[in-house]
Amino acid sequence: MLLTENEAKFKFCPLLKTRDDKMKMCMGSQCMYWRWENENAPEKGYCGVAGKPVAVSGA
Ligand code: SF4
Repeated sequence: MLLTENEAKFKFCPLLKTRDDKMKMCMGSQCMYWRWENENAPEKGYCGVAGKPVAVSGA
């Protein structure tokens, strides 16, 4: 799923949890897993945990 960084920050992260086990929101480019669709024009990106989305992989 390609998203702007601001859109991603309103999606739950599959890895991050609070101390009381509640899900946390995506950290966008502050996270090492965040990948930009195009590094030269960083408008949209995705979470690299699930691999490349179809729109990026060309499949
Ligand atoms: S990019 Fe990082 S913070 Fe965002 S959903 Fe993926 S693992 Fe979580």
